[in-house]
Amino acid sequence: MKNHDSLALVCEQCHTEVKIPSLEHKQRAVCPVCHHTLIAYKRNGTEKVLAFAFSALMFLLLSLPFNFLTFKASGQKHSIDLPSGITVLIEHDYLSLAIITSLATVLLPGAVLIGLIVLALAQLNNHKPFYLPRVFQLVKALLPWSMAEIFLVGTLVSLIKITELADVSIGMSFYAFIGFSAFTAISIAQFDTTRFALWLRQGEAPSPKPLSQAQANASIQRTWALLFTACLLYIPANVLPIMYTELFGQETPNTIIGGVISLWESGSYPVALIILIASVIVPVAKIIILAWLNYSVQRQKTNSQLLRVRYYRATEAIGRWSMIDVFVVAVLVALIQMGNTLSIYPGQAALAFCAVVFVTMIAAMTFDSRLIWQPWKKQQ
Ligand SMILES: [Zn+2]
Repeated sequence: MKNHDSLALVCEQCHTEVKIPSLEHKQRAVCPVCHHTLIAYKRNGTEKVLAFAFSALMFLLLSLPFNFLTFKASGQKHSIDLPSGITVLIEHDYLSLAIITSLATVLLPGAVLIGLIVLALAQLNNHKPFYLPRVFQLVKALLPWSMAEIFLVGTLVSLIKITELADVSIGMSFYAFIGFSAFTAISIAQFDTTRFALWLRQGEAPSPKPLSQAQANASIQRTWALLFTACLLYIPANVLPIMYTELFGQETPNTIIGGVISLWESGSYPVALIILIASVIVPVAKIIILAWLNYSVQRQKTNSQLLRVRYYRATEAIGRWSMIDVFVVAVLVALIQMGNTLSIYPGQAALAFCAVVFVTMIAAMTFDSRLIWQPWKKQQ
């Protein structure tokens, strides 16, 4: 799509009206008040979205049929591809873990990619079928839940975790999965939602409606309820074991913190730090920051708005990475099933921890960051 000449947009966050001049390649327009990115311009952006999304989809297909990981220990060899890894989880009665892993790593990213291809093709042909707004909404809604790159990091962490117990080698499909995650990330980064919305509305900028008091109240209450739920779930997530390791008939439970400590003791300091940050520090920090933000908008504070909105954006961006440890468990369980010799089973904390991540992600989405900019007036 061609660059616009000049444009008046109302910032959807702080409702400031901003006049935007014609943008050059790789320039973006940022709201002067709240620093929200209003619109960006990349030359041939739509073509790039199409090309990268299509490549990512091809890599996704290639990551399915071939060998993903091979594992050798005590003279036994065990290889898995991605679908058989999921099947192993289902066969051992970990259906919930199988559903979460397959949705987050393959099905939702795949749906996002197909959606991006449909949107980019429609935009290139300047054709607006009736279902296009729906597809656009769906792609935006699925984006935070598509976690291929997080699964990739989780797989690497689990490889480091088991190098002491066995020889692990990576197969063809693993390389394809790297291509899939990388191209998915690039095509999402090329897709500018504001520019697409403008094209969809024939150049007419959407005018955001101010929040009503009822909406503000509902957002604050929902956020409190979700944060409270997350706090409750955080207890079993850390107290109960996230997985069990069975080595020659002896079963050892591992908690999240226990896993961090044993990684640290075995000398894998960077991995221990990654797990500590992703599984312990990020969820706690997220709950504390969201509670502080929600309290400040409930009290209608008007100070340090820019600081608060920065904290909010950081919270929203990093929260999904807490899923690393859940994927580590899923990969280890799928890969290491050798009966009494060596087996790994998921613990109750895996699901509780998953729930903490999901509930805090939903809390961050429910918290309406517009409240930071326009404290509603008490009608008393
Ligand atoms: Zn703004």
